[in-house]
Amino acid sequence: VLHNSLIELRGNIRVHCRIRPLLLFDATPGHSVSHNRHKKLSEKVAYAADNETVLVKCSRPGHASVNKLFQFERVYSATESQDAVFADVAPLLTSLLDGYNVCIMAYGQTGSGKTHTMFGPLSGDNFIFSTEDEPELGIIPRATEEVFRLISEKPPGSHWVEVSVVEVYNNEIFDLLAKDSYGTVFGIKREVVTTKEGKSDVPFLTYETVENAAEFLQLVNKGLQLRVKHPTLVHAHSSRSHLIVTLTIAMTVLGDSIGTLWADEESSQKLSKALSCTFPQLREDKTTFSSRASPAHSEPTEKPKHIKTKLQLVDLAGSECVGMSGVTGAALRETSFINRSLSALSDVLGAISEQRYHIPYRNSKLTHLLQDSIGGDAKLLVMLCVSPCQKYLAESLQSLGFGTRAR
Ligand code: ADP
Ligand code: MG
Repeated sequence: VLHNSLIELRGNIRVHCRIRPLLLFDATPGHSVSHNRHKKLSEKVAYAADNETVLVKCSRPGHASVNKLFQFERVYSATESQDAVFADVAPLLTSLLDGYNVCIMAYGQTGSGKTHTMFGPLSGDNFIFSTEDEPELGIIPRATEEVFRLISEKPPGSHWVEVSVVEVYNNEIFDLLAKDSYGTVFGIKREVVTTKEGKSDVPFLTYETVENAAEFLQLVNKGLQLRVKHPTLVHAHSSRSHLIVTLTIAMTVLGDSIGTLWADEESSQKLSKALSCTFPQLREDKTTFSSRASPAHSEPTEKPKHIKTKLQLVDLAGSECVGMSGVTGAALRETSFINRSLSALSDVLGAISEQRYHIPYRNSKLTHLLQDSIGGDAKLLVMLCVSPCQKYLAESLQSLGFGTRAR
């Protein structure tokens, strides 16, 4: 019991670390690198010492090499499968249906395996992920399947699922599912605000109601395609922006008990109508659905009411330590925005783990957007993605440091 309550106080942050295998491109010599030096750069220096410890061999020319150890809740070696990773994610989805908000985010430099871990293989340059290669599927398609499987065990009509896809680029939020009056999807800029209840909300954000995992993933793909096509993002490589896929579950319950699901015809229809409505005025109504985190709104009567929980799945921008010298124009702007948002994220996670009173969510749009699913009684899983080779030693140490600070 004591152990459990400590975890509650810590804000439910878990940090896992995944070390990717050495890949062919790690061994591709750059033009200015001699063969020998190159062999050294593609040498493996980061290992899973056991399933809770990362060992990093740090060597400098002329110095003896030093081993550094980093502990996390779970460490995946390079040979561990997508299956193994998802096995640790699945319990969070049960929590989601129990009324907790959940966030799963991948942190790491470009090329460390974030997109592989979150989505699975992307086909070509299309930034579309396919659901054909099943063993290689990442967290997002598996989690979606699992959520719908869990819902199928509940009374029919008691749960609804919505999807939204946003991108944060240069501290601006783009709604990747917004349609213009011709029905063409394009990224519209949105703002994040704090509601009267102290929650974060994105007014006018597009939410689509979906009935199954296939529909959900189709919309995610639509958003992914747009990620590279949006005019203001034309020069932006995908790793220069944060991508947030949100799965919202609305459920009807009786009284205050989430265990008492309610599925009569009338409330089902009401909820279904509210969810599929895109008219802003009525969408506003939706935000009055109470959530588990605000028991102040509870009524002693056994009236059916609506509860919403959200699962936020985040593929963060690459955390590489890009020097500012020699970088100009758009690239400089991008880099400084990425650095600022990732350090704002680090500050927020640090403040939560130190149980500080004030958590600086509003220092960046990224943390403001994620506020409800990383603080309070929400459950956060940070998946640190680490490349094993010498040439990325500095980046790997930086990521492991980020993870250590968050715990
Ligand atoms: P990021 O999104 O962090 O930039 P990616 O997910 O695109 O990195 O991974 C870079 C490359 O490494 C991709 O070709 C990807 O398929 C491969 N990769 C990453 N992690 C693994 C893994 N665990 N097993 C096999 N290949 C991986
Ligand atoms: Mg990526």
